Amino acid sequence: MHILNEQVPAPTDVGNALIGIRGGSELDLDLRLESVHEGILVSGTATAQIAGECGRCLEPIEYDFEADIQELFYYEESEEFEDDDDVDQYWVVDDLIDIDPVLRGAVVTALPFQPVCKKDCLGLCSECGISLNDDPEHQHEILDPRWAALAQLSDNVASDATNDKTSFKREEK
Ligand SMILES: [Zn+2]
Ligand SMILES: [Zn+2]
Repeated sequence: MHILNEQVPAPTDVGNALIGIRGGSELDLDLRLESVHEGILVSGTATAQIAGECGRCLEPIEYDFEADIQELFYYEESEEFEDDDDVDQYWVVDDLIDIDPVLRGAVVTALPFQPVCKKDCLGLCSECGISLNDDPEHQHEILDPRWAALAQLSDNVASDATNDKTSFKREEK
């Protein structure tokens, strides 16, 4: 068994458009490498610095994320699961293991799809763009959009009715 406690530079392109591992940050690896019959079992945690922005108000978001890692890297000569396409298969290649894909999987699946700075973030004013978190009472004097839609609808109905009458008259002649 081998214990691996190391800080390594984090890969820069892990994440989605809004949030991911902070580029240039350090990744804290706290892993246990165990030799088992089929290969090497890697377990432990990787702690990454996550950086991104709130999907509602665009405020920066930062936190540390500890990803749980448990993965078996098979020896190349191991024939177990060889034809199983459904499972991601990792291999010990030339006595080396590459935990990069394992780490990506563990971090990316744990990232929020719609990151928010806080659960009840009010977002930005759709009219002028100021953060409603700074001024929850903020609003503009506008016509209720539901009434506006209704008003337009009744206009359309009225003009449709007029058109119908004209076409009817044309047919009569
Ligand atoms: Zn926010
Ligand atoms: Zn506004």
